[in-house]
Amino acid sequence: MKHMTRKATRHVNQNEGLIFEKSSPGKAAWKLPPLDVPEVDTAKLLGASERTDLGNLPEVSEIEIIRHFTRMSTWNYAIDLGMYPLGSCTMKYNPRVNEAVARVEGIANGHPYQPEKISQGALLIIKTLSEQLIEITGMDAITLQPAAGAHGEMTGLLMVRAYHQSKGNARKKILIPDSAHGTNPATAAMVNYAVENLKSDTRGMVDIQALAAQMNEDVAALMLTNPNTLGVFEQDIHKIADILHAKGGLLYMDGANMNALVGKVRPGDFGVDVMHLNLHKTFSTPHGGGGPGSGPVAIKKALEPFLPTPVLTKKSDGTLGFDYNRPQSVGRVRAFYGNFGMFVRALAYIQANGPDGLRQTTEDAVLNANYIRKGLEGTYDLPYSTPTMHEVVFSDKVQLKKGVRTMDIAKRLIDYGFHPYTTAFPLIVPGALMIEPTESESKEEMDLFIEAMKSIAEEVEEDPQIVLDAPHSTRVSRLDETAAARKPVLRWKPAN
Ligand SMILES: *Cc1c(COP(=O)(O)O)cnc(C)c1O
Repeated sequence: MKHMTRKATRHVNQNEGLIFEKSSPGKAAWKLPPLDVPEVDTAKLLGASERTDLGNLPEVSEIEIIRHFTRMSTWNYAIDLGMYPLGSCTMKYNPRVNEAVARVEGIANGHPYQPEKISQGALLIIKTLSEQLIEITGMDAITLQPAAGAHGEMTGLLMVRAYHQSKGNARKKILIPDSAHGTNPATAAMVNYAVENLKSDTRGMVDIQALAAQMNEDVAALMLTNPNTLGVFEQDIHKIADILHAKGGLLYMDGANMNALVGKVRPGDFGVDVMHLNLHKTFSTPHGGGGPGSGPVAIKKALEPFLPTPVLTKKSDGTLGFDYNRPQSVGRVRAFYGNFGMFVRALAYIQANGPDGLRQTTEDAVLNANYIRKGLEGTYDLPYSTPTMHEVVFSDKVQLKKGVRTMDIAKRLIDYGFHPYTTAFPLIVPGALMIEPTESESKEEMDLFIEAMKSIAEEVEEDPQIVLDAPHSTRVSRLDETAAARKPVLRWKPAN
């Protein structure tokens, strides 16, 4: 392989095979001492519910089972293995201090049915995180219940509707820019709002004239990501907020890209009325298969009566507790209080960094994205020249002349030992390469990434077939991604 930046050794597996295929009769991974208590007659104890046929369970030794699961754990890519530049997803490192704190016994073993009186520590964690997220966003109140960003969007829009309803008109429409993440229109449709598309201008920002023309008393809110999915800061954000507010509309901010703003500017100060955060992006809790998400929704005072129940309050005796008596609430959106283990991790991250550390993190994330932009400008087409914040979006325009698309380049990156960037959006860039290094990456790692991307561009010129057939180093090559998601094969079955 030409220009091999880094060998993909993860996929070199000796002794492959499935655990059932390794099974041989009589092997076991355990051994018990001789029985020193009277034997129980299980048939008598369990009666008809005793299962006598245990099926065909694998019989393997301890080392075989350890090797099996350890080997399988290396078949997936992870942030702990290398750079994960999946744009918009903010795949930053999950610091180990978060995990250490989450495993403290009283925290890990707390139960949501514990009486409030003996859960004061856990409630204080919820209260402290809430206060710090309110300070970071410049908003007035927050709910930590939603389990992900998209769930936060839904919760936010339910509050938007309850707010308008309380004023006598629920309104019908949500405006969404054409650069938006797919969850935005999906969420608006889910809560029964009509979606109206808003065009971007040549800078890749909301077209103010178009917004002013489309805004009327039927519009409940504009859902805006800032910086948007091009990695561009919406410079007219104050004007945008004014246009909405003048006609009684609300500004919803999709806060998934807060990694570009924390410690620098606060959405509450630039006119945002309601926004969600993704703790599994900006605040370093595990993402995707690594653990449950968390999508807190922060709001301005006018929306406070509509917060999901229960709401954490200080009781008359000075202790913390939950208030369930909130007549205008949109109701509960999640079991118990949200994904508590993620609150602990996010709070550990915020506390470990402190205000200066968080600001530095933001600056480093933006610096890193600009380093990648500089490194790859000229090799890949840059459709918008507007300044880059935390992520940079190229297009495959140059490589397409050789029949190579963004998806092919992304697949080839796997051979170089990197997780692919995002290929599917923003929709306003045909053939997008959406790259977000985050602050986690060192200059050395980014240099390797830039070298890999340049090397792939050379391959496209000299031998595009290598790129079109990639990946070459993985156990399986190109999969039917739709079938993998819609009809997953989750169980091994014997061949006959
Ligand atoms: C990730 C993301 C979402 C959705 O958040 P989830 O936590 O994945 O549900 C919404 N908008 C943008 C811009 C995002 O990047």
